[in-house]
Amino acid sequence: MDPTPVELKKLEGENALLIGWDDGQRRRYTYGELRKACPCVTCRNEKKQAAADPVKLPILTPLEAQPVQVDKMSLAGNYAYRITFSDGHNTGLFTFEHLRELGEVVE
Ligand SMILES: [Zn+2]
Repeated sequence: MDPTPVELKKLEGENALLIGWDDGQRRRYTYGELRKACPCVTCRNEKKQAAADPVKLPILTPLEAQPVQVDKMSLAGNYAYRITFSDGHNTGLFTFEHLRELGEVVE
């Protein structure tokens, strides 16, 4: 049985959020980290292309260059969160298993 979130809160002013898990662990995630870790097909392909050609850096629009925010997190089934980012991206499902590999443990 994978750990399940029991607490979710935005850390105001830190561009980060905190998830508390049912095994007592609490982890802090920055919005930028979550956006980069988006597991959807589009983002995975972009990452693959960037790895294949590291010289070709993407040109960011002014909107994309802004620090991204998390607008909304909603449960998808009982195994993942669907995160809506401020850039409008919301196709990534962050499984609890994946989330436990991201972020950093806080006391
Ligand atoms: Zn994505």
